[in-house]
Order: sequence, then C-alpha cells, then structure tokens
Amino acid sequence: MRPDGSRKSNAVWHARHEMPKNASLPVRVAWHLAHTDHCGCRPMPDSVTRAIDGQPLRICGRGHRSLPGGPCPMCWPGHYRKA
Ligand SMILES: [Zn+2]
Ligand SMILES: [Zn+2]
Repeated sequence: MRPDGSRKSNAVWHARHEMPKNASLPVRVAWHLAHTDHCGCRPMPDSVTRAIDGQPLRICGRGHRSLPGGPCPMCWPGHYRKA
C-alpha cells in the first residue's frame, strides 16, 4: 500500500503534531524542523529558513531541534501560546 501523491507524507505524524493557530516564530521553526525529519510533504517556508540561518540550534532531551532561548516548543507548546 502506498499513500497517494508523489511526495512522501506522514499523516500519522501530522495527526500527532498539529501546527497551532497563530503559532509564534519559535513554534513554527521547531515544528518545521521536526516536520523535515518525519515528513516531506512540503518544504520549509522562507521565513523559517531565514530564522534558522546562522542560529545555533538547541536539541531537547527528546531530540527536537529549536531556536535557543525558552523551553522546547514541541514539548512545551503552552509556553508559547498567546493568551
Ligand atoms: Zn508533512
Ligand atoms: Zn522537545
């Protein structure tokens, strides 16, 4: 059984990692970094690529990459949620 479409997508990963609405930049960066590792359905947007450029990425205990500063956005999404 092969999924439809020419690009490799990982529907299970997407179901478990929904991009929050109005996600802030650190959340979007961490999401896309994880997405690149697990799914190839779409490329990183320029805004995310530019945000990563030249930044020393941090890796959390569970292997998520993120921008430095603050807790891991994949492990602590609530920290970045806007009130
Ligand atoms: Zn995807
Ligand atoms: Zn994490």
